[in-house]
Formats: sequence, C-alpha cells, structure tokens
Amino acid sequence: MKLSEYRKKVNSGKIDEIAEEFKESCPICGGGNCAKYNGYYTRQVVDEGGTYHKNYRIIRFKCNKKGKKCNKHLTFSMLPSGLIPYVKYSVGFILKSLSEIIREGKSIKEVLNNLTLSGNSELLTISPGEIYQFKKYVNTGINRLTAVRYDGIEIYLNKAVSVIERISCFLKYLSGETDGKIRSLEKLSYDFYENQGGYKTNSMFLLGIPSQFRPV
Ligand SMILES: [Zn+2]
Repeated sequence: MKLSEYRKKVNSGKIDEIAEEFKESCPICGGGNCAKYNGYYTRQVVDEGGTYHKNYRIIRFKCNKKGKKCNKHLTFSMLPSGLIPYVKYSVGFILKSLSEIIREGKSIKEVLNNLTLSGNSELLTISPGEIYQFKKYVNTGINRLTAVRYDGIEIYLNKAVSVIERISCFLKYLSGETDGKIRSLEKLSYDFYENQGGYKTNSMFLLGIPSQFRPV
C-alpha cells in the first residue's frame, strides 16, 4: 500500500481496510477475530516527493489471546510497505535520491535543491552518511531478492560486483530500461513479503519488517 493511501485511510478512520487480513488469523497468536485496533503512534516520514510529515500515524493492534500460539508480545504495529522501521526517509525517497546520485551523477546538494525548487520541505537535509545508509538498505533488499532468486533477477544484475554497480543495475531493472517492464519497488517488496508467508510468518518487506511486535 502506498504511503499516501495508508495515511488517508488511517486519518479517515478506515482501519478495517488495512486490517482486513488479520481477521482470519492474528499475527501474534494465530487466533481468528483476535487482533483489535489499539490506536496509533506517530513518527517522522519523508515521502517519495520529499514532503516531510512530522506526525505520520502508524496503527497498532492488540492481541486478545484467542489463538493457540504462545507469545510474550501483546501488541504489534503495521507499517506500510514504503517505510523502513526507525528510518524517516521512505523507500520511494531513498530510491529517487540514489537514482539521481548514481545514475544522473547529481550531488547531494543538487538533489536537495530540486526538492526545494519543487516547493517541498526547505528543512530537509541529507548527509553523506545517510546516503551511505541508503545504499546499504537498497543493497540489502537486492540481496534478499537474489537469495530467493526472485524473477530471475540475477540476470539483470549483470554479475555486478560493487554495491554501486549492483544498485545501478537494480535501478535499470526497476525502470524497465533492460527489458521494457517497469517495476515498482513497493510492489516488489510486497510480492516478496507475500511469497515469504506474509503476516502469518511475520515476513520481511524488502527493506525491513512490516509488523513490529511489542510486549505491551
Ligand atoms: Zn491474538
């Protein structure tokens, strides 16, 4: 689910549309009709367009122990596929920045200038250290895809060795430059999650865990 779609649904109280899948089986105990909406917490998010959301809501659910699985955790939160736990930059923003830097040869300053010019957050900054982290996240995602041989992805990586080469090939793969098929990272991430068992196995999205379990 796109960040904007998730935000609209949460803000307008349409929680059921996000929580539909939990009705059948609670991610914590496996019970039917168990997980109930339990409010939300807020976090900072920079969306794919560079817009800064100071209080982006993430919904939480409480397990009512209707299932058989024992688990010390009682609540869990559900991130949309465009976010990484504890990272304010969205997956879309990370990818867009890396694409401009690696493929178009732009400097960090130019990337930020473009955002400011398009009327978005003037307060936004990215440090070289953060760009390094962005590369690490994306490379981890690529490694997860190659580990499960997703869509024959190895072919598209062209035996790239360095992280930069791998990301560069991956960006081409997403843009459809290699075979005319345009792919969305969020869709890829969700496919991967579903293929690995989805919420029932608390599977990963490509760049992080969607459900975070907590003891209370
Ligand atoms: Zn439960």
